[in-house]
Amino acid sequence: MTLSDLGERVGRAPSQLSLLENGKREPKLSLLTALAQALGVSVEELLSRQPPSRRAQLEIAVEEAQRDPVYQTLNLPHLKVGKRVPNDVLEHIVGLYDELKRRSAKPTATPEEARRANADLRRQMRERGNYFPAIEKAAQETLDAVGYSGGALSQGQILAIVTHHGFTLRYVQDLPRSVRSITDTRNRRIFLKRESLGMHSPRTILLQTLGHFVLGHGQPRDFADFLRQRVEANYFAAAVLIPETTSVPYLQDAKKARDLSVEDLRDVYSVSYEMAAHRFTNLAHRHLDLVCHFIRNDETGIIYKAYENDGLIFPTDDTGAIEGQRMCRYWSGRQVFASPDRYSIYYQYTDKPNGTHWCVAHVDPSRERNFAITLGVPYKESRWFRGRETTNRTKSNCPTGECCVRPPAELASRWEGQVWPSARAHSHVLSALPSGTFPGVDETDVYTFLDRYEEV
Ligand SMILES: [Zn+2]
Repeated sequence: MTLSDLGERVGRAPSQLSLLENGKREPKLSLLTALAQALGVSVEELLSRQPPSRRAQLEIAVEEAQRDPVYQTLNLPHLKVGKRVPNDVLEHIVGLYDELKRRSAKPTATPEEARRANADLRRQMRERGNYFPAIEKAAQETLDAVGYSGGALSQGQILAIVTHHGFTLRYVQDLPRSVRSITDTRNRRIFLKRESLGMHSPRTILLQTLGHFVLGHGQPRDFADFLRQRVEANYFAAAVLIPETTSVPYLQDAKKARDLSVEDLRDVYSVSYEMAAHRFTNLAHRHLDLVCHFIRNDETGIIYKAYENDGLIFPTDDTGAIEGQRMCRYWSGRQVFASPDRYSIYYQYTDKPNGTHWCVAHVDPSRERNFAITLGVPYKESRWFRGRETTNRTKSNCPTGECCVRPPAELASRWEGQVWPSARAHSHVLSALPSGTFPGVDETDVYTFLDRYEEV
């Protein structure tokens, strides 16, 4: 029955019925009754949300699928579902569409997947001595393009880098709280908040942001991809701010003089202590013939970030992840908090089950929250470092032996079972992982923000 056939039976123009059919108008009761009569069904049947048949259900599903933006990105011509399109063809289209929808769903990682991804990534970093030649090269090309010749990068050089890569920069005060920067890729504008928070100073955030584009990152496929991109972008920023070409000769000279120190590297390149220590791990194996480890932990000993290629055994969970684990109270990253001046540089030898490490730990006072940064090397390599003459020395049997995980027997016997500590609830690095293509980012806030600046 065509629309005009039906229109004739109920006394309406086909165009009016078309509006009803497409859901643009709602019919009056009198028209509904007339339609039901003309179609030989009850009004109730006419209003039912249940498709009358599998065929009808498929036709509706295919229509709806074709309206979905995900489907439209395929750029296929519109399929008009006429009588001659067989049921099994429709079944196929609906099946394919469902799978398309499933695959384009935002990646969300469970905490366990996230920890596994972290562990995988750290294994890869250890295998390559935390040195990424391709990123060093990209950073060097960027530096060459702006005529960098040595020392800390000036603000002018950093702006020249932004321009060189075809971006403009804008400082704003109303950046959404869930992001550190926003890049409008349509207009190639980077938005930043003008503030300084330790490692994440505006120029670090700017270079990390730029790193994603210089390294050709696409939208992250899953959480592991997101993590890898973040590590690479951070590496890029560090490689620009502490360039390989000038920092390596500097460090090699310091090693010859047996005066290697993270704080000097920090001062020469005007970066945070954390960035200097972490950058040291990039260059140590390749250029200084040194193995080492790096840890960032909070005052309670919880590890937020760690790396080693010197055999240090970290506490791990059963997925092999380190993040969120509590490290030994006798390690320097925890001892520094108990030292007379926690903000001065703290050196220590630690005897561990598989050997002794020499470590330097520091709590960066410019951070909004207290984190200890540790750089450590095996005992025999301490001779290259400033601070090797320290008399601080502890013994640790963690994480394998009897050490500090359980309280001492004498202490426990006096208190066990007679205490009820109320735990401080802290939103933990990986306890509940936010979802989304860019985990934790509020997309509505970001789009609203961009709208606000579209014409400005
Ligand atoms: Zn311990």
